[in-house]
Amino acid sequence: MRKRFTDKVVLITGGGSGIGRATAVRLATEDAKLVLVDISEQGLADAAEEVRKTVSDAEVLTVVADVSEEAGVERYVAETLGAHGRIDAFFNNAGVPPTPRRTEDIRTEEFARNISINLTGVFLGLKHVLKVMREQGHGRVLNTTSLFGIRANGAGSDYHAAKHGVVGLTLNSGVEYGPYGVTVNAIAPGSILTPMMEKHLRSARDNNLEQIDKALDQVPTKRFGRAEEVAATVAFLLSDEALYINAAVVTIDGGRSAKA
Ligand code: NAD
Repeated sequence: MRKRFTDKVVLITGGGSGIGRATAVRLATEDAKLVLVDISEQGLADAAEEVRKTVSDAEVLTVVADVSEEAGVERYVAETLGAHGRIDAFFNNAGVPPTPRRTEDIRTEEFARNISINLTGVFLGLKHVLKVMREQGHGRVLNTTSLFGIRANGAGSDYHAAKHGVVGLTLNSGVEYGPYGVTVNAIAPGSILTPMMEKHLRSARDNNLEQIDKALDQVPTKRFGRAEEVAATVAFLLSDEALYINAAVVTIDGGRSAKA
């Protein structure tokens, strides 16, 4: 396999599970020097172990941090720079699932928490990493939005608000930082079978919301996506092969967003 990340420092938030962890494993096979950030210490330990099982001499640094707190974000950026002196690519991916209830039934605190992680967390990552990349004169950023950041599902307004906000941050930052040699894109995954999706589907079932429970019926490919499939697209978008892709939102959803 071609190694597109030799000597590249890649920072991944939400690296302890699901899409972030699968991306860490994929990029390790392409020689990346990894910095994995997560709020879960156990998730990080398991992810680092999985990476090293796949690539025994992989370079992996882990940082426990809450992406919704600016001090935590400053720390993961400082630790990356302390270890490697630069950040070539940033997968701004950590997130939490929707509150799968009607808007009128979402508590204000639930809404605020979702926004603080899924939107403010992405903003804080951009704020502190883009400064570094602008000064370096290069860098590739990929934010994780969602199908629910470009379409509506009919439940979970907190998540929809946050993920639509991530699209706005992506388009604006891509336009803002393109002149400095920095690209900013987003992926919009559909239904990907990760621990988050499993929890979300269980909770949707408990709340009797049919439209979520039947999510799979809406997917033209009639199956869930795999985290490894998302990781393969992320690897391409973070690599120099995708240098002319900027301020774009790439769907990875089996065609669901195109379905009338
Ligand atoms: P996951 O739950 O498997 O992984 C998310 C990771 O983020 C976890 O390790 C979790 O500990 C971490 N995290 C949560 N809050 C954090 C915080 N405050 N600070 C630091 N880390 C935190 O979920 P996943 O499915 O891999 O989701 C990854 C991203 O993909 C999320 O942004 C999610 O919204 C998005 N997404 C997932 C799907 C899907 O179907 N799985 C679809 C669309 C979008």
